[in-house]
Amino acid sequence: MTPAPADADARRAVAPVICYPTDALPAPDLARYDRALERARVTAQIVVAPREAATFRLRAGTFFRISCPEGSQVGDLNLFDADNPDERFFSGKTRALHGTHVSTGARLWSCLPYLRPMATIVRDTLDWYGTDPHGGRVHDVIGTRCDPHTHYLLSHGGQYHHCCHSNLTRALVGEGHPPAIAERMVHDVLNVFMCTGFTADTGQYFMKASPARRGDALTLFAEIDLLGVLSACPGGDCGAEHSSDAAQCHPLLVEVLTPPADALEGWSPPAPNGYDGSHGLPG
Ligand SMILES: [Zn+2]
Repeated sequence: MTPAPADADARRAVAPVICYPTDALPAPDLARYDRALERARVTAQIVVAPREAATFRLRAGTFFRISCPEGSQVGDLNLFDADNPDERFFSGKTRALHGTHVSTGARLWSCLPYLRPMATIVRDTLDWYGTDPHGGRVHDVIGTRCDPHTHYLLSHGGQYHHCCHSNLTRALVGEGHPPAIAERMVHDVLNVFMCTGFTADTGQYFMKASPARRGDALTLFAEIDLLGVLSACPGGDCGAEHSSDAAQCHPLLVEVLTPPADALEGWSPPAPNGYDGSHGLPG
């Protein structure tokens, strides 16, 4: 190991600065969203079977509520612009902007070069959880998604076909995409209801049983027309393991809530990012 320099403690003591101060971002009008949600009616219901995934479509200006109708269950969520599958959820930048875990007021951002809000979280029945004694928090944008390739490595050749990565792939094949294309469309997720953190000593990613119970829900506002894909993780509440049929799993419910036409008068979907795209290259 490299010997520490004489001023090691002084270097460590330098104060951190927030990389992306979110008070500079355009703020969502949460009060307006809340009033619209109060007037919204359930217009579609999609049940996601345990260890499977399902797709759903949302018009901009509607809401979707993801809940645990039977018991604690983690969900892995992918989002696409409904008309352009190249624009998809950007877990990494969402994490950089809003933190390792998201709750009411956070937005789910799309990938470059689009970088705009795809959805905004408007209600979270687990917002009381905060940070637990292990450093765990809920609704994770750290974990990528459980996948059979990592499982293959860790299990010395195991073949398991119901990791979220595979469930999301099959659901996209069901939308008409060829399997090889569908797998590459799957991207890092929002882990709904998942409780995770990093260990204090080794900095390793950990999960623990989700505090979600029957009836818990995360409600989001669709900022643009969306294709959503949600997997009910084979890890169930993710309290033990996630790439096998060992855990008790439950379904997830997605409800689409449509407000009356006048509820969002004056609101319009965010435009794609305004950077000119030239990257300093000669015109
Ligand atoms: Zn999973």
